[in-house]
Amino acid sequence: MREYKLVVLGSGGVGKSALVTVVLSFTQSINMSSFPPSFQQVEVDGQQCMLEILDTAGTEQFTAMRDLYMKNGQGFALVYSITAQSTFNDLQDLREQILRVKDTEDVPMILVGNKCDLEDERVVGKEQGQNLARQWNHCAFLESSAKSKINVLDIFYDLVRQINRK
Ligand code: GDP
Ligand code: MG
Repeated sequence: MREYKLVVLGSGGVGKSALVTVVLSFTQSINMSSFPPSFQQVEVDGQQCMLEILDTAGTEQFTAMRDLYMKNGQGFALVYSITAQSTFNDLQDLREQILRVKDTEDVPMILVGNKCDLEDERVVGKEQGQNLARQWNHCAFLESSAKSKINVLDIFYDLVRQINRK
């Protein structure tokens, strides 16, 4: 079974852990006990895949550590909250860091505007997200909600498909 190392990145509080928790809750029933819980077996387009999702916590003080998971990661979800402009602005640096470590422009990646259930508190427009994704070499883009379980698995399925196309 093919393994996919996926990394979830973004500022504190955007919902990275909440998104990963939703994935775990969806896939628990087919979880294989011989793997640690960070590994999830899922079916994407009729094919069984083993996802290893790294939920980063922003506590990686050492650049070397960040470089390591960027080097090892095969697909990256760059997450902001639609309710906090600064979390959107923070992602440009992260993308550049990934491209530098990977030493290529062609890295499976998805830009994710989380907390889309909080429409009343929205400060980052959907078109802002779409425009940034376009600037990023037409990177994938989704708005999600870990709370309302909108588009959560789609984030990771999209990364798997991008990795398969490589
Ligand atoms: P992390 O620091 O990126 O891992 O963020 P957390 O997953 O810890 O979430 C930070 C806070 O945002 C918590 O209080 C979550 O319950 C809340 N949160 C996460 N995702 C969503 C979402 O999609 N909608 C709403 N309304 N709240 C969310
Ligand atoms: Mg977290």
